[in-house]
Amino acid sequence: MKRWLSWRFLVPFAALYLGVHIASIVWSGSHAVRATYIFQLLAPWIAFLACCYNVGLSSSRTRFYWGLLAVALFLWCTGMSLAAWDDLIRPDASDAVAGYSDIAYYLYGLPVLLAVASPTREERRSLFIWLDAAQAIVTAILVYVTFFSVVPFMRLQDDPVPVTVVAQADNIENIFLACGATLRLFTLTDQGERRHYFRILAGFLWIYAIFAGLYNHLFIVLGDRMGVYNALSVVPFLFLSIALVIPFQNEENVVPIHLEDRPVSLFIENASPVFYTIALFLLAIVQIRHHFHLGVGTLALALVIYAIRAITLQGRYMRSERSLREARNWLQSISLQDGLTGISNRRHFDDTLQSEWNRGIRTKQPLSLLLLDIDHFKILNDTYGHLAGDRCLVEIAAALRELVPRSGDLLARYGGEEFAVILTSTDSAGAQLLADRIRIAISRLNIAESNAALRTVTLSAGVATVRWPSHKTSPQQLIDEADRALYTAKRNGRNRVEIFSEIIVPVAKV
Ligand code: GH3
Ligand code: MG
Ligand code: MG
Repeated sequence: MKRWLSWRFLVPFAALYLGVHIASIVWSGSHAVRATYIFQLLAPWIAFLACCYNVGLSSSRTRFYWGLLAVALFLWCTGMSLAAWDDLIRPDASDAVAGYSDIAYYLYGLPVLLAVASPTREERRSLFIWLDAAQAIVTAILVYVTFFSVVPFMRLQDDPVPVTVVAQADNIENIFLACGATLRLFTLTDQGERRHYFRILAGFLWIYAIFAGLYNHLFIVLGDRMGVYNALSVVPFLFLSIALVIPFQNEENVVPIHLEDRPVSLFIENASPVFYTIALFLLAIVQIRHHFHLGVGTLALALVIYAIRAITLQGRYMRSERSLREARNWLQSISLQDGLTGISNRRHFDDTLQSEWNRGIRTKQPLSLLLLDIDHFKILNDTYGHLAGDRCLVEIAAALRELVPRSGDLLARYGGEEFAVILTSTDSAGAQLLADRIRIAISRLNIAESNAALRTVTLSAGVATVRWPSHKTSPQQLIDEADRALYTAKRNGRNRVEIFSEIIVPVAKV
């Protein structure tokens, strides 16, 4: 079945349709008008049904657009049906007057314009769609009034509008819509369904503009002697019907385009809703002289719509700015936090030590560092498993947090089962006091594990102090010293505190 739905198989059918249409005009003689209307009506109605079929198939991303095209085609079909009614039932009526069928043809451009001018970004809001729709309708009415100098459905025109003016307006509308759809196609950032839609729309609108232009021209020249040229009007709808029934294949592995990288696209995308407002404004100014209330009403409407859009967008940007700020703060805080224990991580430790070092240079205050390492943690891990080890680390970190409450100090997870404490404005004696308090508190800690052996955990501490930091030494040196003191504590039996002093340097070298 799918194999038949391709250009290769369907184009011959379209050619056959066209051939039968032309043949029926040639052979039906005096009934040519009836014969041609059957084909001229059938093709757009088929396209309309094919479009409805696409509305059903499409995803929520494109259903709105397919729906607009379906409405446009329905209006066109209505126009054609009205024209057929006019010609077949009231053949004596003059063609030189713009009738209701012309209004329907004209209105067909409205949903197309709405599809072309609607932003394609994800955050398109239903409020904006309604605003666009309201603008589109008022624009259409004003363009109509400007062209035909009459308020539709309120008063019949004073002077009959010459058919050449109707044709010209039609051609301008068609080319304008085709250009709009093409522009939209080039500014699209996604490669999927929406590109497929705008490709079909732009293709159809160009073919329609060309064939309708030709048809209009011949109609002005030949009038009722159009004969086989009537067949021209079905070509765009045959093309559209084929394009609509061929299944859409999503192009995979296509790199998405970023709108921000394409300034022209970005400009068109952002400016397109404002174009409507500007058009409304200009049209309203033109109309004020002849139709004062309509003109002033439209000016007010344009202003109100612009204000609603601006206020809504401003609110949206403020909300998104706030959520971005919150996200940034959250990212910043987790980038400085240890994932397991929730205390500061190594990066935060390094940054803080450097900044406290610099502050110490200025204030000439002492700076101390504790390095804490849990004793025999490997055995604990090997015996009870890594998860038990992790829980133990979390509990120790929580206990340490309470033992280091001073706001200037910083507790951090230095490595696997090693912790570090930066103590600002603290001399060696103070640092030693705190280290001992920590050691005793941890050894008394009752770790919430079922296994009794796990309940007592001890740690060893290395303490190093710099009386006042200077440019001659570095934070790294302080870390090295604390590390050496810790090494001594381990060597001297664990569960103890050692302070770095120059004396231990030769010992460490042994
Ligand atoms: P000591 O310090 O007393 O000399 O002995 P130790 O067994 O604690 O020393 P070592 O540094 O050799 O072992 C540290 C162990 O800590 C190795 C590793 O299995 C464990 N460890 C490191 N990071 C983590 C962690 O995030 N979770 C758990 N469960 N274990 C960790
Ligand atoms: Mg260790
Ligand atoms: Mg250890």
